[in-house]
Amino acid sequence: MNFKNLTIQEFKNLVLNNNPFDVYEKYFEFLREEDVDLKSFLFFTEDLAFKLLEELKNKDKELPLWGVPLAVKDNILVKGERCTAGSKILENYLAVYDATVIEKLKEAGAIIIGKTNLDEFAMGSSTENSAYFPTLNPFDHTRVPGGSSGGSAAAVGGGLVPIALGSDTGGSIRQPAGFCGVYGLKPTYSAVSRYGLIAMASSLDVIGPFARKLEDIELIFKIIRGRDEKDSTTQNYQPKIKEVKKIGVPQEVFEMGVDERIKNLLEKFLDNLKINYEIKKISLPSLPYALPTYYIVMTAEVSSNLARYDGIRYGFSYKTQDLWEKYFKSREYGLGDEVKRRILLGTFVLSYGYYDAYYKQALKARRFIFEDFQKAFNEVDLILMPTSPTLPFKLGEKTEDPLAMYLSDIFTVPINLAYLPALSFNLGFVEEEGKKLPVGVQLVANLFEEETIFNFLRKIGFE
Ligand code: GLN
Repeated sequence: MNFKNLTIQEFKNLVLNNNPFDVYEKYFEFLREEDVDLKSFLFFTEDLAFKLLEELKNKDKELPLWGVPLAVKDNILVKGERCTAGSKILENYLAVYDATVIEKLKEAGAIIIGKTNLDEFAMGSSTENSAYFPTLNPFDHTRVPGGSSGGSAAAVGGGLVPIALGSDTGGSIRQPAGFCGVYGLKPTYSAVSRYGLIAMASSLDVIGPFARKLEDIELIFKIIRGRDEKDSTTQNYQPKIKEVKKIGVPQEVFEMGVDERIKNLLEKFLDNLKINYEIKKISLPSLPYALPTYYIVMTAEVSSNLARYDGIRYGFSYKTQDLWEKYFKSREYGLGDEVKRRILLGTFVLSYGYYDAYYKQALKARRFIFEDFQKAFNEVDLILMPTSPTLPFKLGEKTEDPLAMYLSDIFTVPINLAYLPALSFNLGFVEEEGKKLPVGVQLVANLFEEETIFNFLRKIGFE
């Protein structure tokens, strides 16, 4: 049995035509072997997988994901399994319920095979902030897979699993998807329930899928989206589909330090598109303000969301009789540097006297960013821009320079601030040091228009 690079349908056929237990015995052998170097998984959930296979016997074989393996970023709760969020503070934390997305995917017949690596609490762009180990890029093991959902992206990009879940607060699905040569969808904010997602920044967080096939990513999205009474921000989903005629390319992008090789690929792609579509230069004047705005809004929300890891309610607890010492030491030993940096920044921007100067200003800037995009969508149907300004970078290249790392997200964070959906897809490869490195770009649509993107890409020949 060959498990590499299977699609949803191919895997389903394999399970339908064989003894499912045999298939999964062998599949786990394959996974363990393939993941030795890549390190995309924090741990496998073999017992759960076989339990789900057992339950499959009584389920309808027509279910869309009947017997299909699913990898889950380790900040999404799967009942009875550990959920570490890539942090020491949750090393032994067991999830007591299923996230809504997990419930839905189980119902659709999915088999959860393991939890994937991530930057601690989803803070980072390379998966090097994981408290456990870094994941490698499947195309070049000296490079990062991107982050924070680097484990999920590498598992899909490396051909280990057809589909995986990630979360995107400022680019954590799209940037690693781009770095690993796969599709990564950041849905419209509130399109997918966040119930059971370990919160980073609640007004930006959204769960979304990775896949190597367009139809696979679309399928997963349609299963997980929709109103959930356990997440009051979710909506009764009214998908909108537009026929695409005009595509906008924000000119600011080209003044923001994009790698020439990415620019070249993008220009070639645009030249081809010009034959059938109107390509419009558009302006998003607020684009350069998105990153600073994000680092205020996000850190503010991080500082309040992470207050719950106090050494008492969850996970690691420093042993002492002194309450204050318990709080301080549990956080000191349990949390990593990047997480602490953001809690400090967030506490600062929310503090008395600075709240108006930073946080309130940032909320105003966010409004401008949102309005800029809305204006643009009066003129064009989709917006095309790079996912990241650079190719996948080397392990260790940016770990000592937080600002350089933050710049990875310069084109992804504006989309989260504006609540919009965007799909990162592979545009081609660039050769460096004898290795082919993937280049991702993103198509951004207006609110609730994920399907406009899917349909358009299919129409122009993507699969
Ligand atoms: N890389 C970005 C950050 O570090 C985005 C993280 C995310 O989307 N979870 O904040």
